[in-house]
Amino acid sequence: MYITECWIEHPVRKLDTTFTYISNDEVFPGCRVKIPFHHRTVTGFVEKVTETSETKEEAEKRLGMKLSPVSEVIDHESLITPELHDLAMWMRRETLSTAISCFQTMLPAKLKPRSSHQKAVTERWVRISDEEVSLTPKQIEAWEYVRENGPMRYRDLRKKYPNQAAALVSSGALLSEEREREAASTRSKTHSSPLVLTPLQKQAMDEILHSDDPVYLIRGVTGSGKTEIYLQLAAEALERGKQVLILVPEIGLTPQMITRVSERFGEELAIYHSGLNPQEKYEQYRKVKSGRAAVVVGTRSAVFLPFADLGLIVMDEEHDNSYKQDQQPCYHCRDIAVWRGRYHHCRVILGSATPSLESYARSSLRNIYHLITMDERINQTLPEVTVVPMKECLKRGESYILSDLLKEKISERLTSGRQIILLLNRRGYNTLLRCRECQEPVKCPHCDLAMSYHRDIGRMKCHTCGTEMPVPKVCSHCNSKAGFAAFGFGTEKLEAEIKETFPAAKVLRMDADTTGRKDSHADILNRFGRGEADILVGTQMIAKGLDYPNVTLVGIINGDDGLARTDYRSCEVTFDLLMQAAGRSGRGDSAGDVILQVYEPDHYAVQCAVQQDYPAFFAHEMRFRHAGQYPPYVYMIALTFSGSTQKEADEAAADMKQALTGSFKVIGVVSLLRLKDRCRSRIVMKGKDLKEMQDAVRNYIDSAGSSLRGLRIDVNPLYLD
Ligand code: ADP
Ligand code: ZN
Ligand code: ZN
Repeated sequence: MYITECWIEHPVRKLDTTFTYISNDEVFPGCRVKIPFHHRTVTGFVEKVTETSETKEEAEKRLGMKLSPVSEVIDHESLITPELHDLAMWMRRETLSTAISCFQTMLPAKLKPRSSHQKAVTERWVRISDEEVSLTPKQIEAWEYVRENGPMRYRDLRKKYPNQAAALVSSGALLSEEREREAASTRSKTHSSPLVLTPLQKQAMDEILHSDDPVYLIRGVTGSGKTEIYLQLAAEALERGKQVLILVPEIGLTPQMITRVSERFGEELAIYHSGLNPQEKYEQYRKVKSGRAAVVVGTRSAVFLPFADLGLIVMDEEHDNSYKQDQQPCYHCRDIAVWRGRYHHCRVILGSATPSLESYARSSLRNIYHLITMDERINQTLPEVTVVPMKECLKRGESYILSDLLKEKISERLTSGRQIILLLNRRGYNTLLRCRECQEPVKCPHCDLAMSYHRDIGRMKCHTCGTEMPVPKVCSHCNSKAGFAAFGFGTEKLEAEIKETFPAAKVLRMDADTTGRKDSHADILNRFGRGEADILVGTQMIAKGLDYPNVTLVGIINGDDGLARTDYRSCEVTFDLLMQAAGRSGRGDSAGDVILQVYEPDHYAVQCAVQQDYPAFFAHEMRFRHAGQYPPYVYMIALTFSGSTQKEADEAAADMKQALTGSFKVIGVVSLLRLKDRCRSRIVMKGKDLKEMQDAVRNYIDSAGSSLRGLRIDVNPLYLD
């Protein structure tokens, strides 16, 4: 008989402990089991197993408790490695989360210890049959196509022969069958060789290879050749027989990174990101676990893949917000990467043109990360940035969307056959509609936020919860039927404005509204890359990682919009966006132009971006953070309570505030905006001793009388609004 201790699937923080069961079947740590719990069957995750020759009664007597048997052993080998187990326990402590939520986060959907098991995803395939069927000439052509190419996805046949595919199946000329969906092949047809490094690249590479430091921060302007360094470091690790992990913010936005990696390393590559279906993720997971994949390119969750022997971890665009998970456990991918690097004794390389303040402070001020600076572009030319002060343009009667200067530059590029990227970090047509009578904006019925107007669907949308509705006939605030006035504009209106001003230009738009489908990011970017459009319009999505040599003009509209936010990181986020966007121009052999339309041209975030001067921005921003006592000078823990009424949420927060004492400050209680029908209330702990703050929270949870179901804990939060 086996005595097993299991974590159980439960949202209640108080149940974050193991429960003991017995099993006659063999069971291992790291396996899932079905177990009875309070008259229900739940999924458990095995922490510890001891084999015993005792009977059930003897064991019960020795342990002084009743022991229920496991109902079913789901897995017959451990889903995780000892390393991942230790990592989960560390993550549980650091992020103040439950153990089960950490395991759930680390495992792909098909292996998650969760009660709702997912089935394998299948898809329809067709192959030819021997049956004699009379067919039309076009149907014969489609049938021949299948015969020549062998069995294929029904979807692919229908794409090529939209009017014949269904008839061929129903007549019996083709047989259809369901197959388990296979992970896409990542094999590349072309192969690239390492480039000869420039002196600056060579120096950076040598410095890294001759040092024993565990973590490096490469601050290099866009186009300085960081990616080539990653690739050559990866080759070095592969030569030593090790595995390599390359982390990127969002796969859809970095197709060029995948191309470059796969061309260099061929079929040993695995790609892991949120766009994969559960089956594909599962296959990639197995590929890494079995050691078949030597190189992995992936987003945040790839940091949990079961590598046996890592030789290098690269985290590109290390400042990117998508590296932080906003659900519990709110971990930061960088922390996990550094932890795993230490475990595997391998180097961790963080790279960015605009490192997070935390990372840059750790390298330039405290020597915790080894700093490497690359301030020159490979093609030697940084783009020319011109600021357009919009207040003055408006006084002169220019358009509030496209200034005269930007229009002039656009038409120049259109004439010379160059491409243009226009960035506006808001989507929709109008950002809000106000009642003509009482001036109140139309708000989401589930959130206290203004809804945007989308002209293509003729409806209002909430960008936070996704609710859509028609434009109301009556103001819900004052019951007036006077109608609404539109304010602000998004990418949809920008696109319309361009089409009107430059009717001959071909325009593509990329934002959350045009990229709903799975491969639509890549589709749009590939089309732009092939020159199918002159102008690419989009939100911050288009500011990242793109490398199009033919783009020689980037226009940024309402570039300082982000400064209006009250968040402590709003200047950093705005500066990053402007720097990244500017970096898209002039990537080829001709110099680029950047036109930056702003309302506050003298703000330091704008000025430093114009000068492309990260150190100056860092110095300025650090003074502001010091004055306000914000990270990286202090640590913060945000504790947010949600409830069905504001009173309930506020009281829970106030209760916790009172109980938290130590050398830290507790700020709040602050009532937050209602989101998705939940009222929210928050307190923030600020202090120099993170461990003390974490202990205080843990003590509160352990001694609390209530279940704390509505409590969300975010250690080192990126946003406070
Ligand atoms: P980053 O990652 O810093 O933005 P990349 O590695 O993408 O920079 O390099 C920018 C451009 O310069 C790319 O088009 C790349 O192919 C090219 N490049 C990089 N290193 C070299 C080199 N050593 N010799 C020639 N071209 C290079
Ligand atoms: Zn009104
Ligand atoms: Zn909403």
